[in-house]
Amino acid sequence: MKRWNGWGNTNTDYPLPASAQSYLTNFFIALEPRPDAPYETVLKAVPASRLPAHPLLDNSAGARLTHARGQSLPDWVALRSGQIGAFPDGVAYPQTEEDVSALLIYAQKAGAKVIPYGGGTSVAGHINPPSSDNPVLTLSLEKMTRLLNLDEFGRTATFEAGITGPELERVLQARGFTLGHYPQSHEYSTLGGWIATRSSGQQSYKYGRIEQLFAGGRMETPRGSIEMPHFPASAAGPDIKEMVLGSEGRMGVITQAKVKVRRAPESEEFYGVFFPSWEQGTEAVRQIAQEEIPVSMLRLSNPQETETTLILSGKSWVGPAEKGLTLIGYGGRRCLLVMGVTGSNLRTWQVRAQASSICRKHGGLFVGTVVGHTWEKARFYSPYLRNTLWELGVAIDTLETAIPWLNVMTASTAIPASIVKAALKFGQAVLAFAHLSHVYRDGASIYTTFMFRRPADPDELLTCWQAMKQAASLTIQQQGGTITHQHGIGTDHASYLPAEKGELGMDALRAVCKSFDPDGMMNPGKLF
Ligand SMILES: Cc1cc2nc3c(=O)[nH]c(=O)nc-3n(C[C@H](O)[C@H](O)[C@H](O)COP(=O)(O)OP(=O)(O)OC[C@H]3O[C@@H](n4cnc5c(N)ncnc54)[C@H](O)[C@@H]3O)c2cc1C
Repeated sequence: MKRWNGWGNTNTDYPLPASAQSYLTNFFIALEPRPDAPYETVLKAVPASRLPAHPLLDNSAGARLTHARGQSLPDWVALRSGQIGAFPDGVAYPQTEEDVSALLIYAQKAGAKVIPYGGGTSVAGHINPPSSDNPVLTLSLEKMTRLLNLDEFGRTATFEAGITGPELERVLQARGFTLGHYPQSHEYSTLGGWIATRSSGQQSYKYGRIEQLFAGGRMETPRGSIEMPHFPASAAGPDIKEMVLGSEGRMGVITQAKVKVRRAPESEEFYGVFFPSWEQGTEAVRQIAQEEIPVSMLRLSNPQETETTLILSGKSWVGPAEKGLTLIGYGGRRCLLVMGVTGSNLRTWQVRAQASSICRKHGGLFVGTVVGHTWEKARFYSPYLRNTLWELGVAIDTLETAIPWLNVMTASTAIPASIVKAALKFGQAVLAFAHLSHVYRDGASIYTTFMFRRPADPDELLTCWQAMKQAASLTIQQQGGTITHQHGIGTDHASYLPAEKGELGMDALRAVCKSFDPDGMMNPGKLF
């Protein structure tokens, strides 16, 4: 069963090894686990539904509570404290495109706002109902999960948009294909959600971001259905698919999507490489990207993240390995690169040789597959750590940007530093670290994680978080980065969007949304 106030299913836990627990207790000094609001109490706070009956509608308190919030830190605070604010008035589960279209007509008649809902893994407030005089209908795609067509010859597959990552890969891999789109939220996030938020998978270096994989499909809007035909390429004016990518439910409901698929790889391996410093590691990955060496993933952790990740892994080899690395000159500033190599057996061998030769030029020490396997095993499991940390008394959040190479080095230090500085005002010690999560020829994505002792009072926690988030967001913008490389805008990033798009750009965005949704019924308050 899915957790109602945390990450993942209730059968999976992430127990912290004793060494990791004492590392955190030493850092944060006084950690006091505090109880959360019980499910039954929060359930009682769900008000009466304002929506008229409909055969596809579930307006039970349970359904409305479990669709009220996503996975951002403010969402966690709301769910764990029981101070949820607004709930949807009902959750509808269409099974066909005709159902979606009928539900939009029903919502129009009821004067309801509509929130398209995929896996609810948003970390930016995308699926939270607004406090509104109008009823709110959450439209979940969880029953629209079929493979509609696999064109093996043309290498495309068409799915209903509610299919989750594991199911999509299971269906494709059973036929020898893969999409290769693996966001860390893979277990729950959906194809429609990926498109609506411009998602990026961990191996987008090889497979491409969802923008490169999305080849066409259909969206139901308040003004009817819009078809996005598939062409390998087209010069026929601006591309409607591009407008739908990142639309965050504001234009309509994506009901089906055609995606570009590949043959499932013959071989895949993840290697660990240690660098003596962040500067050297960064130079190596820049060169690999600019020389277009076809690895499948480059993930370079800064020194603080390298240390914390190794400690939190609790693996018995970490202590001896760290001592050995220090002895041979990879001391306190060492950085870990996890590098993926994917493809045919011959090709992966060649690519590994090319990439390792560049790493060695920059002081990289190739340590084989043990570290890579540890990362691979935890790639979708590590979000479960959020539950354990919260219960220990630690709040954790992440933020991300993409930035041109000229500023990567300064920004990768300035962003975590801005968080630490903002938290000082609240007497909070923060563990903040970063990694380059996606590397491009013209820049990189910087992904920052920060942990802090969570205050007992949820309002105090939120005020402190807001100060850190704002400081980091302003730093990102000062450094010339985008406010988000992969998480999207939602509500949490909406105030930063105008600086990126400009006034005219924002007007254009609003106008496009309005042409699909003249009365503003679709997911109000998100994006702008
Ligand atoms: C632990 C964790 C790790 C994450 N890792 C990554 C990562 O590696 N890469 C990454 O890109 N993101 C990541 N995310 C963020 C999140 O998973 C993505 O934004 C994802 O694309 C959201 O998909 P979803 O199906 O859960 O959408 P939801 O959260 O349900 O919705 C997100 C937005 O999309 C809209 N939407 C959803 N489905 C449709 C549809 N069918 N039609 C129209 N609009 C729709 C919603 O209205 C909403 O605005 C992570 C989140 C968590 C919690």
